[in-house]
Amino acid sequence: MKTSIILHSLFSEFSRDQLHAIMDLADEFDGKFRVVVTGIQIYDITKDAKEAIIKRLPEGVQPVKHAAVNSVVACRGTDGCSHAFMQTMPLAKYIDEKYFGETMPNKVRVGISGCPRCCAEPMIKDIGVYGMPDGFVLVVGGKSGNRPKGGEILAKGLSVEDTQAKIEFLLQWYKENAMPKEKFDHCLARLGNPFIVTE
Ligand code: SF4
Repeated sequence: MKTSIILHSLFSEFSRDQLHAIMDLADEFDGKFRVVVTGIQIYDITKDAKEAIIKRLPEGVQPVKHAAVNSVVACRGTDGCSHAFMQTMPLAKYIDEKYFGETMPNKVRVGISGCPRCCAEPMIKDIGVYGMPDGFVLVVGGKSGNRPKGGEILAKGLSVEDTQAKIEFLLQWYKENAMPKEKFDHCLARLGNPFIVTE
């Protein structure tokens, strides 16, 4: 039975060298490749090929794991979009470099947008933020899939530093409090707002 692998790089941006290396690996192992929301997928490969490919990935490229922080998507924010209210790239870089691939009870997807147009789809991520003139809005518990739902707003008017701290808090909270394989939104529904401490 054939399988596939999805490859991630920071901001989902792949250099020419990385792309060539990925295409060469796909060719070598008789795979096909395509662009997907979370990166580049090599598919139609054997399990042995998948293991071999993982060992030979170019620097800066890593496989997407299921039960982990497995997607950090950000738009360019004020570093590339005239609509942006907030800077997104340094925040996304920090979260990606520190947490991408970190093991979690289930997958965690993060979306960071510079304005309420929400190109990085923060409303349907486990943890999402979008920029407003007075700071970031933090949204949690959204999801896509076959039963999509918009997330719940937990905080507004956040600075980049506050947003970073809150995302880190939420990741740690989920890791420590979720039951095995419990999804982020189910954990939220069971335990309530993580920022409200009850005695
Ligand atoms: S979410 Fe807003 S700031 Fe980001 S790319 Fe889209 S329009 Fe631009």
